[in-house]
This record gives sequence, structure tokens and C-alpha cells, in this order.
Amino acid sequence: MIYIISTGSKGNAVIYDTILVDCGVPFSKIKPYLSKIELVLLTHEHGDHFNLKTIKKLAFEKPTLRFGCGEFLSDKLIGIRSVDIYAAGKIYNYGKFKISPVILYHDVKNFGYRIFINEKKIFHSTDTAHLKGITAKNYDVYALEANYDEGNVENVINEKISRGEYAHQIASIHSHLSLQQAQDFILNNAGETYEFIRLHESEEF
Ligand SMILES: [Zn+2]
Ligand SMILES: [Zn+2]
Repeated sequence: MIYIISTGSKGNAVIYDTILVDCGVPFSKIKPYLSKIELVLLTHEHGDHFNLKTIKKLAFEKPTLRFGCGEFLSDKLIGIRSVDIYAAGKIYNYGKFKISPVILYHDVKNFGYRIFINEKKIFHSTDTAHLKGITAKNYDVYALEANYDEGNVENVINEKISRGEYAHQIASIHSHLSLQQAQDFILNNAGETYEFIRLHESEEF
């Protein structure tokens, strides 16, 4: 079961069976699924992925819940019990599922995750300028950022500049993945059957 509670710059939270990836939404949005969730994987510190109030509330409401993240988020989680600190590239076996973090290329430290659950291989990656050096051969699910369309983004930037406006898209293209980059990754990695889930799509371009 895959359920996208929210994706994009307004908030991110995606459920893969019993695993929640990202927690950048109010508690009320996660509450209906809380009884099923066993692990919360955190990616990076940006508010659309990391809502500390929600994280604290989750830990309080469900004391058995585990959290997992890179060392770079550990100081933000002081006071939360059951935090597993991961190193990139290692495989962590929880019994019912395995997970493995992948280093991404954002404007702050960030992890993507390989999730192995119910015989399925899932690659979840958002907020990254590129996926160079990363492979995920023959996965069942590619949940990849498709933030902007390379064809549109240049027009949007040029129009804004010609109007004398600030084009925040310039920063986006240096820290986010385009639809075309996501498609390239799938082309290089996917087998015959797979599912492509587009994450973090921009509303503008
Ligand atoms: Zn984001
Ligand atoms: Zn971000």
C-alpha cells in the first residue's frame, strides 16, 4: 500500500505500507494512519519535510514508533526516544522490512531511502540536484522528484527576469530534480514493470 498524504513545497509525507517517509505536514493529516505506521524515515531539515511539532506529537501519541535519520538530523531530535541514526549505504534490517539510506545532493544534507518491504523494492528520492552515481536496478517502485520541466523552466526564468522579478526557479534547478532527470534515471535502471511516482512537482513549471 502506497499513500501520498502530501508532496511538494507545501508539505511532504508518503506512506509505504508501515513506513512513513518525511513528516512535513500537521499531525492531523497523519493521525488516520498512525495505528499502521511503525517507522518514520526523515530526510532533511527543510520545513516541508520536517515538522518538529508533528514529530513530537507522533512520538507522544505512539511511544512504540521508531524514527530513522542521518546523523545530521540527530541534534534536532533531542528528547525523542527511539531514534535510529543511519549511515549512508548501510542496510538496516527491521525484520518485516529493510531500509538503506542514500546520499542526495541538496542545499542541506539529505537522504533518499531504499525500502525493501513485502517483496518489493522501492527507491524514494526527493530534493536533489541530480542522481549521479546512484543506481537502483529493477526496482518495483521509483518515487522520484519531478520538480520542474526542463522545457518550461527556462521560459519561466526568462520571463521573470525580463519583468525585473526575482526568479526563485534559478535556485530550484540547482537543488531539485527535473522530470527529465527522473525519467533518465528510470530509463537507466528500471526493468519491464515498475511504478513511477512523481514527487515534489512544482505548481508553476
Ligand atoms: Zn522539499
Ligand atoms: Zn528541501
